[in-house]
Amino acid sequence: MDIERYRRQIAIPGFGIEAQKKLSRARVVILGLGGLGSAVSIYLTVAGVGHLKVVDRDKIEKNNLNRQILYTEEDLGKWKAEVAEKRLKEMNSDIEVEGLREEINEDNIRELIRDADAVVDCLDNFETRFLVNRAVVELNKPFFHGACRAFYGQVMTIIPRVTPCLRCIFPESIPKDRSIIGVTAGLIGLIEATEVIKYLTGTGECLYGKILIYDATRMSFDIIEVDRNPDCEVCG
Ligand SMILES: [Zn+2]
Repeated sequence: MDIERYRRQIAIPGFGIEAQKKLSRARVVILGLGGLGSAVSIYLTVAGVGHLKVVDRDKIEKNNLNRQILYTEEDLGKWKAEVAEKRLKEMNSDIEVEGLREEINEDNIRELIRDADAVVDCLDNFETRFLVNRAVVELNKPFFHGACRAFYGQVMTIIPRVTPCLRCIFPESIPKDRSIIGVTAGLIGLIEATEVIKYLTGTGECLYGKILIYDATRMSFDIIEVDRNPDCEVCG
């Protein structure tokens, strides 16, 4: 581990070299490499999370560039997972990065997250989120949920069977809304990444049983306490 690289975060009172070692040993899976995934993967990379697995099935399109800051104009038409792996390795040679060009589905999700210490939701639709939610509850993996549209977003951190899962809160799918400005995705992604760092290092309190609701039009951050649903079809 390259101590000099992390000197300024090691200097945080209560963080120190021990927290840095925890980050260095951690395996984190980032599902989706769009606007959320760009922010989450870049900041977990520079923070020194030791093993990152980044997963996306898509190629880079021009309409991605307003928010997906992993990519440049020269990357148009290339696979996100491949470009992301290369770029993240360039940012930090002190960690391992594995880019996987895969569609996340019932057949592969358990294998993708089997060795993960944390699973980060950077997806763009609730159907896939629910599929992942079921798998993280089954395999008992901490799950960091984030979603955004336009100028709005939400974040929640899930410890299976301890805190509410996604299905406890959202019995129905939320329709996909493809309108988004980059700053919203960046900010929600960074709150997710902060939650991951806090969880892995045991710093502070995570959004357990709390959903953070962000509205940039009012610049408001509201935290709503939520309970597990005893009749939840996934974790009840
Ligand atoms: Zn549940």
